[in-house]
Amino acid sequence: MSLKLFNTLSRSVQEFTPLDPTGKAVGMYCCGPTVYDFAHIGNWRTFVFGDLVRRYLEFKGYTVTHVMNITDVEDKIIKRVRETKTSLKDFTAQYETEFTEDLKTLNCRLPHHTPRATDFMSDIIALIEKLIQRGIAYKASDGSVYFSIDKYRGCGCTYGQLVKLNFDEMRVGERVKSDDYAKETAADFALWKARVPEDGDVFWPSPWGEGRPGWHIECSAMSMKILGPSFDLHLGGEDLMFPHHEDEIAQSEGAGLQSNGRRFVKHWMHGAHLLVEGKKMSKSAGNFFTLRDLLDKGFTGREVRYLLLTAHYRETFNFTLDGLQGARTSLARLDECLGKLREIAGQQTAEATNSPLVQQFTETLDDDLNISGAWGVVFEWVRETNRRIAENSLKPADAAAALAAWEKIDAVLGVGAKTETEVPPEIQALADARTAAKKARDFKRADAIRDELKSKGWAIEDTPKGPKLKKI
Ligand code: AMP
Ligand code: ZN
Repeated sequence: MSLKLFNTLSRSVQEFTPLDPTGKAVGMYCCGPTVYDFAHIGNWRTFVFGDLVRRYLEFKGYTVTHVMNITDVEDKIIKRVRETKTSLKDFTAQYETEFTEDLKTLNCRLPHHTPRATDFMSDIIALIEKLIQRGIAYKASDGSVYFSIDKYRGCGCTYGQLVKLNFDEMRVGERVKSDDYAKETAADFALWKARVPEDGDVFWPSPWGEGRPGWHIECSAMSMKILGPSFDLHLGGEDLMFPHHEDEIAQSEGAGLQSNGRRFVKHWMHGAHLLVEGKKMSKSAGNFFTLRDLLDKGFTGREVRYLLLTAHYRETFNFTLDGLQGARTSLARLDECLGKLREIAGQQTAEATNSPLVQQFTETLDDDLNISGAWGVVFEWVRETNRRIAENSLKPADAAAALAAWEKIDAVLGVGAKTETEVPPEIQALADARTAAKKARDFKRADAIRDELKSKGWAIEDTPKGPKLKKI
């Protein structure tokens, strides 16, 4: 079965085939965080989407090289460094560490490479030099170096591949120094920004004088250095299509490093944005959440991951706290079913061969990562499994095969199954105290402990195999 993905470059769903002649290796670059604050839940939607793409490619047997850059120097960071009177390194290091922690909390597979822009200065400078040599970039009177849209187009290249641009309405010869600008004002953009007093001590030497790189050139330089001038997949949120990704294409293809008529990137994927309670997230609207805000409210990384993975990546997703409660309920249904399967399977193990669950799951995700459809398959399987458990028609070997199939697809979903080990130690201690009280026939105390467990959000159920704890 072949995997089909929407390619922003062709604006159509295409069969995914890697550049690697053996068809096995895949190079994948995801634009990473700008480390000037904690990543918010919108950022996490995009990074979890990247994790889904990687996990699914690995599930399909590809060997993925996953690169996620760390933007550790750009306009917003410099502003915050100035405000907080810290050094660039100290300031960005704390948020980079927190970012990695959050990735782990959300059970995202860690990228193989997490290049920092500040560690790639010589590659960035070399790429700008190449563009100057080819006549596509020029130094302006302020000492900054700009990418010339006119010269690039004059070489027969197209500016405006991911988005449609109307050149008639643009003001020719204008320049933008800021990293972010609207498509209506598309103009020559900065590759190297000459040092200004507000930059403080954030600057590097270059052939054009002291300064720092623009944001877009950082990604071109790092992606091509690690994955080569042509690679398979480039991902980001939809807001990055323009100007960031458009400029990445212009810089990388403008440098002319690709061979055999290959493109800089074969396949571009963009994740739609996340809204909170139907609105754009903003601190002033009070609907701004980081992952740790949600953990503080008592939700788990697993619940957040599940919720972020419920909608198709090309659909805008409305995040709500009610939705997170719903995620908890859905996962509890799944956990209950898996728990029963484990009980029935006992010590029996099995392989997931010819599993209809795995087959349907694969068919669904092959269709442009139809994740909502895939969850539909999973919950239909839960319903059918529960039915068979209720009618006592599942033998240990069937249960073991069902569990093996689940594990196979969970390599993609990454929500795991809640296991006994996830019970916090203090809850387990209370459960043990209740068992001891019951043994001593102190039923009053046993009941009191049951109530205490309940008040802490745990139910205890006596089964033939002993007491079992369940999150309420
Ligand atoms: P940044 O740290 O701002 O560079 O953003 C990191 C990633 O998060 C980028 O791929 C953005 O496109 C993505 N992103 C930013 N805001 C949202 C949002 N509200 N929903 C989904 N993705 C977002
Ligand atoms: Zn980028």
